[in-house]
Amino acid sequence: MARYTGPVCRLCRAEQKKLMLKGQRCKSDKCPVNKNDKVAGSSGKRRLRTAPPGKDPKARAGKRSDYGIQLREKQKLKRIYGMQEKQFSLFFERALRMPGVTGENLFVLLERRLDNVVYRLCFAVSRSQARQLVLHGHIRVNGKTVNVPSYLVKPDDEIAIVESAKNFDLIKNALKEFERSGVLPWLKLDPTAMKGRFLAIPRRSDITDLLDIKEQMIVELYSK
Ligand code: SF4
Repeated sequence: MARYTGPVCRLCRAEQKKLMLKGQRCKSDKCPVNKNDKVAGSSGKRRLRTAPPGKDPKARAGKRSDYGIQLREKQKLKRIYGMQEKQFSLFFERALRMPGVTGENLFVLLERRLDNVVYRLCFAVSRSQARQLVLHGHIRVNGKTVNVPSYLVKPDDEIAIVESAKNFDLIKNALKEFERSGVLPWLKLDPTAMKGRFLAIPRRSDITDLLDIKEQMIVELYSK
């Protein structure tokens, strides 16, 4: 299935949650989820800017079946990490084979993705931008260029920007976020050298910005 290339704010409206897909815009007043004014809908009627997309937003926002709720949780997580269905289900299968709690394993695997680590290290303002940096060969892991966004980073791996990309404005601008909020406890960043380290595998409870995702529902969905 092709990667979604449409307007990403629409995905947030569909999930009725800020999925943080657009970098700085998501933290600014420009985020449509922060606005409660009305705009013209596809049917011509005016409706809340935050209403779910589609012709009948009321129906879409209405009561959902158990399956519908489980599906939405899976879609949210998949969209946050910018993954396609097939790849997400492969990650789930891998989480299932690991010892421990499957839902927590899934989170840990997603956090270990190279594009996610590049984003978490503040080298990019969004996971999609981080993915581009990886795909274009601007990221090194332990001194070797890795251009696979789903590469799983291990504890003690060093993640660095290649020399030729150190002047990129998008990376310099993204690093300003580090000055504001630092990096997560399982990461270490040297912003001057533009390199960081993945210190340890996080626990599910450490991923505090996604605590509202109910991974058990995703497990139930895939168990059907
Ligand atoms: Fe979602 Fe970011 Fe768009 Fe807000 S600005 S709706 S958080 S993608």
